[in-house]
Amino acid sequence: MTPETSVFRLNQEGYSAGLPVSVAVLSRDPVILKNAAGEPLGSFTPEIPGMDPASGDEVALLSLGLLPEGAYELQSGPYRRAFTVRPHSWNAVTHALIKGLYYQRCGCELSPAFAGVYTHPACHTAPALDWEDRSIRRKIPGGWHDAGDYGKYVAPGAVTVAHLLYAWKLFPRGCSGDLNIPETGNGLPDILNEAAWELEWLLQMQRSDGAFHHKLTKARFAPFIMPQDDLEPEYLMPVCFCATADAAACLALASRIFRPFDEAFANRMLLSARRAWNWLQAHPDFVPFMNPEGVHTGWYGGRSDVSNRFWAACELYAATGETAFRTAAEEKYQAGFPLTSFGWMDVGGLGALCCLFELGESAGEILYTRLRENSLRQSEYALALSRASGYGTSIPANHYIWGSILPIMCNAMAMILNSLLTGRQDMRDAALLQWHYVLGLNALDLCFVTGYGQRSVMNPHHRPSGADGIEAPVPGLISGGPNKTYCYPQTKEKLGESVPPAKYFLDETPSADTNEIAIYWNSPAVFVGAFFNQ
Ligand SMILES: [Zn+2]
Repeated sequence: MTPETSVFRLNQEGYSAGLPVSVAVLSRDPVILKNAAGEPLGSFTPEIPGMDPASGDEVALLSLGLLPEGAYELQSGPYRRAFTVRPHSWNAVTHALIKGLYYQRCGCELSPAFAGVYTHPACHTAPALDWEDRSIRRKIPGGWHDAGDYGKYVAPGAVTVAHLLYAWKLFPRGCSGDLNIPETGNGLPDILNEAAWELEWLLQMQRSDGAFHHKLTKARFAPFIMPQDDLEPEYLMPVCFCATADAAACLALASRIFRPFDEAFANRMLLSARRAWNWLQAHPDFVPFMNPEGVHTGWYGGRSDVSNRFWAACELYAATGETAFRTAAEEKYQAGFPLTSFGWMDVGGLGALCCLFELGESAGEILYTRLRENSLRQSEYALALSRASGYGTSIPANHYIWGSILPIMCNAMAMILNSLLTGRQDMRDAALLQWHYVLGLNALDLCFVTGYGQRSVMNPHHRPSGADGIEAPVPGLISGGPNKTYCYPQTKEKLGESVPPAKYFLDETPSADTNEIAIYWNSPAVFVGAFFNQ
């Protein structure tokens, strides 16, 4: 029986010893759990609370509790499905999500020694033109291709690096394995090596006055060709408030992380962060980024830069201990913004990470005591959403947006932070359900990470995967997932109105609206994976 005809939905990469095993069942029949020898270990009666609004499924979440290491099978009537419990079941997929960023490297060859069959010559090596002053030409090599396209964007890149750095800082044993990248063995953990690739690029995106250019892209997206064949001119696009603040925050954070390994690199990053901050101080009035006329690449423009300035002030305070940064962070905090958002649009959660796990109680009444209380309160909302969902997924039916994987991973991060601060197991277990969602415990019975699971995404909206002539997509990339909020007319035409939000998904290359990949969707999954892998 193929998995898709089975009534079971589960983590297709298996389960980890020491953590509770949960599966979803689409049947009211009793479920028998058997060991590898086929001997029954127990029987469970699924209790279906009613129709799950997001998926339209009548589904029960079944907790099988803690199971010893081994191979198991579930049976319900004629349906069977096998799974395993192992000590480090998610080690490979967590590291693959980091290695996925290596495959996004720009400006260098991906050689067979590191990239296997997914090789290509160096791409985007020509000097870039300044969009506003075409007499300026600069060579800006490196960075990661942002998503399915070949653009490189400062704010999304800074946020991605921050996820990696905090994953390493908080859960080093969960994400410090070798990745087989060119720097492997140089004395640094590979997760930091991969982050450094983007940081070196980020440093070059700063204008002489301290502001950061928003992005380095073409005027429009390339067709589905390999990156080395994408020869249209690249432009340094105008500077941006949010990008400048995010870069300041990320570079200040990175200066702390890299200082024990490379003092000079740390100093360069801190200097750059200070210059960015000084530019922000000289330009207090937010101006939103808009694509210049004739530019059709990603927007990534924030609606406000308050959470970005807050995050930057927190990280600069942590990096320097200078009270001016603390005062600025306290002042920005009063504006109020979500502390459970860790994506490119709202970065208050990243500032909260800095306050709660770097500065700690010494940050004082506002930045620790009050912020902690607020953060814990906001994470209750994520838990309530998870409990209200048939699959335990922490977004409501009307929040399956473009890249729904991001709010799901942000809620997992928020619940992990809660469990770290309070020791609460209910928070940890609900966060674990979001990790299970990524790897197959969802309404689509699909593993969203390419190359992993029994049924995984095969046709992501990702130019190299579409153009390389290899059937299997580049591995270790996470799909944005179901989206019924703002999707293409052709997606609506194919799926119609009746398909429920959690199933509004097409595993088809053109469907950027449901099946694109992005560096900043990989990275929060790295954070979550590293926590559970540790
Ligand atoms: Zn490139």
